[in-house]
Amino acid sequence: MSRTTRRRLRFVILGAGMSGILAAIRLRQAGHDDITLYEKTDRLGGTWRENTYPGIACDVPAHLYTYSFEPNAGWSRMLAPGSEILQYFERTADRYGIRPLIRFGEEVTACVFDEGRWQLQTARGTRDEADVVIAATGVLHHPRMPELPGIERFGGAYFHSARWDHGVPLDGRRVGVIGTGSTAIQITSALSRRASKYSLFQRTAQWIFPMENPAYSTEEKQVFAREPERLGALREELNRMMIDVIADAVIDAESAGVKNLADACLQNLEQGVRDPLLREKLRPTYRAGCKRLILSPDFYEAIQQPMAELVTESIEGVEPAGVRTRDGCLHQLDVLIAATGFVADRFVRPTVVRGRNGVDLDEVWAAKPAAYLSVAIPDFPNLFLLNGPNGPVGNFSLIQVAEFQLDYILQLVEHLRDGSLREIRVRPEVATAYEERRVEAARKTIWSTGCNSWYLDAQGVPASWPWTFSKFAQTMARPEMTAFEDVA
Ligand code: NAP
Repeated sequence: MSRTTRRRLRFVILGAGMSGILAAIRLRQAGHDDITLYEKTDRLGGTWRENTYPGIACDVPAHLYTYSFEPNAGWSRMLAPGSEILQYFERTADRYGIRPLIRFGEEVTACVFDEGRWQLQTARGTRDEADVVIAATGVLHHPRMPELPGIERFGGAYFHSARWDHGVPLDGRRVGVIGTGSTAIQITSALSRRASKYSLFQRTAQWIFPMENPAYSTEEKQVFAREPERLGALREELNRMMIDVIADAVIDAESAGVKNLADACLQNLEQGVRDPLLREKLRPTYRAGCKRLILSPDFYEAIQQPMAELVTESIEGVEPAGVRTRDGCLHQLDVLIAATGFVADRFVRPTVVRGRNGVDLDEVWAAKPAAYLSVAIPDFPNLFLLNGPNGPVGNFSLIQVAEFQLDYILQLVEHLRDGSLREIRVRPEVATAYEERRVEAARKTIWSTGCNSWYLDAQGVPASWPWTFSKFAQTMARPEMTAFEDVA
């Protein structure tokens, strides 16, 4: 088909976070011009808009957590703070003219495939149509609240880490935080010196990898701005480090890399915690890397502050004055924060998605969410996911992941544009075989060695890419077109 007779495709992107903005930019660069992003809130930025807790930072080096086509010489630190990251996305969206494509305050409630097109409806009643839908709805998006008997009687302020109430004063107050995931660890580093009393409620101890977080000097930033090749070299170096030291190590529970990680975490614990009793409370009983590895330069320092207390007794309930633990102790608090993570298996839901012949995504995913290469689902033609189910999550840069996935999707979409395919449908048997291979490999990873984490699906299998990063890059470089079928 000649260029002039190519189909003009209409795209709808769900969500204006990191991957939605990326999709809009790259679709435009590929010559597509009929694009709408639906964003349910009034601001872009996804997870970086929602998570504003004190101490928030990216635990992937910032120069890696950057679009490949939009380097940022100005990152202040190795692990940039969340506010800087949010500004980066806003600036990038503006620079590439994406904001006018976004319909803010419009939550897509239904996507129904009908006669070759997706019919969409929003909570406001807007109706729209698209040839292609890209779900860029994020992974960790729905806060998981703990069950706390008596919480309704609590006299202080109570909120989830992703719903931070900035009206609540913290300085000089008695602050309690539930959880010891990446979020709670960052909050602890930021708050334990500010509170008059700081209580960290730990259910499970965490291995802490001692990742330094140096600031970039003004001179360094000037060099990065002047000499893009220096910035490129730094990115490459950080990439290698993250892949070699973490990403490729954790996929083999018996690898030397995993042992090195464990040694570094153990040394950090032994040398970083002075009080032997506290050290034992902080010592995990599962293997390092089994839960998402926590990278922190200063958590152990923070939890050893005079006003900080690590509470390992389990929580019995909440009373007007604070949290009562099983040993009968009342921990009096003014503020209680649930840093208890997210329901990690929702993806595009609760949007109702119906594919061919009325097939309902909620039913297809009843046992667990799955997608071929985490991008495409049988019976849901021309619907693609960014950072979808079972995609790479093990300390990868999700920007890099989304870029690979998007390049893959762009190649598929070319077949629609040039008319060689009318619908992009992954063959069910191919998707099933892929998922079987993935599950088998996932069982050999460190995430599968006997701890509980949000990486595990309902069957206890790690919901992640279980192979090396280079295998991911290779697989996504070019779609295997025999995996897809056209309309019969
Ligand atoms: P998380 O890793 O799921 O941790 C939740 C924590 O809350 C765990 O310590 C869990 O304990 C505890 N918890 C949950 N329910 C509880 C209950 N009912 N009672 C007591 N404790 C309870 O959540 P997260 O810390 O928000 O992090 C989620 C993910 O977000 C991270 O793994 C990471 O991928 C991402 N993240 C990234 C950054 C970054 O810098 N890039 C920062 C923050 C978060 P158990 O361990 O016992 O289950």
